[in-house]
Amino acid sequence: MPRTDIIATMQADIERVLISRRQIAARVGELADQISGRYAQYPEGLVIVSVLAGAMVFLADLIRHLPLRMRIALVGFSSYPGPATEAGDLTCVCPLDIDVERRHVLVVDDILDTGRTLRRVVSDLRRMKPASVRTCVLLRKPGKTEGDFEPDFVGFDIEDVFVVGYGLDYDDQYRNWPDLVVLKPELYGASPAACDRAS
Ligand code: 5GP
Ligand code: MG
Repeated sequence: MPRTDIIATMQADIERVLISRRQIAARVGELADQISGRYAQYPEGLVIVSVLAGAMVFLADLIRHLPLRMRIALVGFSSYPGPATEAGDLTCVCPLDIDVERRHVLVVDDILDTGRTLRRVVSDLRRMKPASVRTCVLLRKPGKTEGDFEPDFVGFDIEDVFVVGYGLDYDDQYRNWPDLVVLKPELYGASPAACDRAS
């Protein structure tokens, strides 16, 4: 199938663009400025711990705007098995493989929803006795977060809809779409909960 046709079929799945690639690029630059300002005081730099796989596009853009020494480590959890848009149990599928003792750690994730993922990552990290742990999310759904978890850096507050694109997936697809978008409700045929959230 020619490339333009592939793009057209993906385009046809999109109901609306929530945040455009231009808006994302501008905000990532602003976030990077805030983060650089905060960590400039540490000549030894920081460790960025990022959460697979949704944060990978955000991480790739963000780190190229950070004029800081850094190490990067990845952790992975499985919470949305297959074509599901409601989180299941959190299973660690890729443990942290770096020593963060006495280091400044910044956790980077795609989206803060209930907060269970970030809470878990932060509590696992704290046991490793880092000098500090801060968190950065591209997206946050206000009102959804359980407890009083406050990320240190937030790109956008969004409404409670299921978003894909810019690294975020539905059934492991759409991660390569450059904008953050909402899919047409009929695509979530097997998962009625998502229809409610996408409408
Ligand atoms: P939490 O643990 O905060 O409930 O959820 C965090 C993870 O769930 C995110 O890192 C992301 O992978 C996934 N998630 C939450 N909301 C959405 C959404 O609207 N779209 C997609 N694609 N993933 C989401
Ligand atoms: Mg994630």
